[in-house]
Amino acid sequence: MSENSEKFLNKTDVIVVGGGPAGISCAVTIARAGKKVVLIERGKFCGSKNVFGGAIYAEPVREIFPNFETNAPLERKNTEHRYAILGEEDATTVSYRNNDSNPVSYSVIRAKFDRWMADEAKKEGVIIVTETVVRELILEKERVIGVRTELENYYSDIVVLADGVNSLLAKQAGVRGEIDPHDVAVSVKEVLKLDNAKINERFNIGDKDGCIYEIFGGPMLNMLGLGFIYTNQNSISIGLGITMNELIKHKLRPYALLDKLKEHPAIAPLIKDAELTEYSAHLIPEGGYKKIPTLYASGVMVCGDAAMLVNNLHWEGTNLAMISGKLAGETAVIAVNKNDFSAKTLSKYQQSLEKSFVMKDMKTYKDLMGTMAMKNEQFLGYYPKKINSFFKMFTAVNCIPKRTMFRGFIKSVFKERGIFGLFSDGLSILKLLWSILR
Ligand SMILES: Cc1cc2nc3c(=O)[nH]c(=O)nc-3n(C[C@H](O)[C@H](O)[C@H](O)COP(=O)(O)OP(=O)(O)OC[C@H]3O[C@@H](n4cnc5c(N)ncnc54)[C@H](O)[C@@H]3O)c2cc1C
Repeated sequence: MSENSEKFLNKTDVIVVGGGPAGISCAVTIARAGKKVVLIERGKFCGSKNVFGGAIYAEPVREIFPNFETNAPLERKNTEHRYAILGEEDATTVSYRNNDSNPVSYSVIRAKFDRWMADEAKKEGVIIVTETVVRELILEKERVIGVRTELENYYSDIVVLADGVNSLLAKQAGVRGEIDPHDVAVSVKEVLKLDNAKINERFNIGDKDGCIYEIFGGPMLNMLGLGFIYTNQNSISIGLGITMNELIKHKLRPYALLDKLKEHPAIAPLIKDAELTEYSAHLIPEGGYKKIPTLYASGVMVCGDAAMLVNNLHWEGTNLAMISGKLAGETAVIAVNKNDFSAKTLSKYQQSLEKSFVMKDMKTYKDLMGTMAMKNEQFLGYYPKKINSFFKMFTAVNCIPKRTMFRGFIKSVFKERGIFGLFSDGLSILKLLWSILR
């Protein structure tokens, strides 16, 4: 077949690469507007290769699938949030419970949830091609006009890149460079099978309720990394993510750190006798606002993880992926209606993102990663340790007068950090708060 007849036969309005939350949300938005859209996914089915903690956030999901709570495969509604600061052997935990009938998030298994979203999108007209890897973009006069897979070429007016954190295609489109080890976290996760009743008892939650742990310190002490636990119906997801740069610097292997986390006295009883059923590793974009690539060029847009849209402090990624996918989809529809696929028309996507909470939140935390990278030994090392030693002192009952103990504790902080160190830490916090709130 000549390239021209191939172009004619295999041509569609929009091609979306990647069947994660960003790609599916984008494709279904386009199909709902009556345009032809093909979604290409390399996995056996959408979700088969996707890894996360994880919680999906109800309100953003409702924006795309309004009735998902009645028929999507949800595990538990997250009612309990715990923030655990681990010392070597001890831990301080703050917890917040909210039994609101409209939960903020649900725990899900991505292999089931993404597959469900893809099936819904298919019902609304999205053509889904699975087990197909997009190898490269096809360009004509610097405009993206299609994609090359192992077997055939697909042509379209617009290609949306929703191919996740590694997006080699965004690099080929010239909108993004190489990934810097400072800008990604390596995460490892295990799914541990545990009886439903034991989960309820150990986490002190109801049958359908879920508990999320955000974990600081422990094996990640002094490093830019966080751990997590999510409860599913009959399993627990446990994992951690640490910036690649830290792992290289300290010559550490993430799964050795996860083993240590599982052995910590505050964590081990939660997962006792649970059976390992799944193990996975994945990258998380951590670069923040300052590392967001160019989001569009002639004939192409980038969304979700491929566009570095992750709010790491809040463990938010799927929501930013879905809303960015939706906005890219809406822009694609405008471009198809105008028959204009220029960068100028597609820049509407960037404008819509800027107006939405997605870019506003990314901007709010623009200085977070820089401050944490500079001060990680203090904010993710020294102070978490000190919080635990404060509570050790506060709960101690011995024959030392309390005032002597308090004074001893304060003296130790001044001695260990020094006046200049404390001043510099305080200033960093104030600067960060100023950059967040102004
Ligand atoms: C350990 C971990 C914990 C997390 N926890 C949470 C959480 O609790 N809540 C939350 O909201 N977010 C969480 N995130 C972030 C969240 O998972 C991502 O932000 C979200 O999945 C991004 O969606 P996406 O559609 O952009 O990319 P992905 O979900 O990565 O989807 C990309 C898709 O593209 C496909 N693909 C890639 N390349 C090609 C190609 N060349 N051809 C065809 N297909 C291709 C992949 O197979 C995949 O299906 C977590 C991430 C990790 C790693």
